[in-house]
Amino acid sequence: MFWADELAARLTGPQVVNDSKTPSGTIHVGSLRGPVILDVIVRALRARGLPTTLLYGIDDLDPMDAQALLTPDASERWMGVPLAHVPDPSDDGHASYARHFAALFIETFAGLGIHPDRYYWMSEIYPTGQVDPFIRAALERAELVREIYRRVSRVERPDGWLPVHVICPTCGRVGTTLARDWDGETVAYECLPDLVAWARGCSSNGRIAPFGGAAKLPWNLEWAAQWNLFGVTIEPCGKDLATAGGSRDRSDAIAREVFEREPPINLPYEFLNIGGRKMSSSRGRGAAAHEIVEVVPPEQLRLLMVRPRPNHAIEFDPDGTDAIPRLFDESDRIAAATAGREVKGELPPDHDRVFAASLVDPAADLVVAASAYRPPFSHLALLLQVPGVDLRGRIEAEKGEPLTEAEASILEERSRAARAWLATYAPERARIEVRRDALPPAAADLDPDQRRALAALATALSAAPPWDGESLQAAIFDAARAAELPAGRAFAAIYAAFLGQLSGPRAGWLLASLPAEFVVERLRAAAGADTLPA
Ligand SMILES: [Zn+2]
Ligand SMILES: [Zn+2]
Repeated sequence: MFWADELAARLTGPQVVNDSKTPSGTIHVGSLRGPVILDVIVRALRARGLPTTLLYGIDDLDPMDAQALLTPDASERWMGVPLAHVPDPSDDGHASYARHFAALFIETFAGLGIHPDRYYWMSEIYPTGQVDPFIRAALERAELVREIYRRVSRVERPDGWLPVHVICPTCGRVGTTLARDWDGETVAYECLPDLVAWARGCSSNGRIAPFGGAAKLPWNLEWAAQWNLFGVTIEPCGKDLATAGGSRDRSDAIAREVFEREPPINLPYEFLNIGGRKMSSSRGRGAAAHEIVEVVPPEQLRLLMVRPRPNHAIEFDPDGTDAIPRLFDESDRIAAATAGREVKGELPPDHDRVFAASLVDPAADLVVAASAYRPPFSHLALLLQVPGVDLRGRIEAEKGEPLTEAEASILEERSRAARAWLATYAPERARIEVRRDALPPAAADLDPDQRRALAALATALSAAPPWDGESLQAAIFDAARAAELPAGRAFAAIYAAFLGQLSGPRAGWLLASLPAEFVVERLRAAAGADTLPA
């Protein structure tokens, strides 16, 4: 069974699925795995008829901290200040730093078909007083909170430490204050210059009632308070938080013992690791979500994340590899299987559910979507490099009838992705220049066996076989066998004859991207004696 359906099958009654994020900078594509998993769970619950709400919290009272410093958008001046109170670093009119970056990820989610029923902003929740009962409970049971930190995570807090972060009324920082001495209505606080390494407090102190937005809960307590406040029943979390004695264990214990409510179901998910040289270099293209989505459309990006079970790590290394073309091929294979066509290789369990989960539109007609004509990505990447190709006409000829509107958008989306791929991640061998004008000099070095193979291929191809990559690839193998030539040397001969180089993309697909008459003529020329050195 598809993993999200397995989870849904265990549950009854209305469900509230929640996630939240600190809006502190550009989103790494790996951090999209969580939101996609959430969305797929919500779809599975709804498919089972369970009324389900998807909430997404923006933890914008979190301070600009060491984490934010890792991004170029952080500012010394605002270190320690809640992100909701830091000005927009760019000039595009958002109310705050938090709003700016939250807008970026809300837009990214929408592009992936993820539409939470509600976004909530902690900077708006605290002033309503809704968190006050939890702040009060945490202060009343501060001793228990310290004991939980010690027992669950071996984290020691000093005697008298209180689980609340006052927002300094003098300098506005939240990361620099220390509270003590809860008297039932107020706490004493100090804003310390050296409490944390990444921000300097202003040294003021006083007493304050930590309610109505004057203070916030530490992260683990805030998380547990969100579960209570919104009635959260499911909250998957990343492996980094889900380790034994880690953040999630701490919040679970706080939920049970301090706020007296069973924590939501967890479905810990592994990392999505994006590899590659360019991506780790400071100069090059990063793994920022907005960069990856230029090359990997939403449907394929969702597939990458939903196909493995959440507890499997995903290694995705698109730089200089075929990882992106392979992802498209896998997406096409699962679509074909869903459309009822026979496919090679093993399929994931309930492949039609996997396919449905990869679609951006949850209401899409599965059969219509699966049956749409999808030109292979590698084929498109070749066609785009052959001058003078009428792409739409060519793809319609391959399909055998005009493209539907949906298919035309698929072609458009894939062409854009293939162009972006060629300009960025594609390995050198995928970039070609077909020598249309004349036989490249490299063809002069072909040996007699290679020439015999090319001649045999020319004869086979002049009989007008189906002009697609797979058929032509088979024809090349046949011609090589007829000439008693290892297939690799037949491929090398083709690269020499068409590209003037020793290697290239899959030869059958290369030939399929070119007009048949030209291919036959060139094969004959390369096979012929006229290019032999005198
Ligand atoms: Zn902005
Ligand atoms: Zn201060």
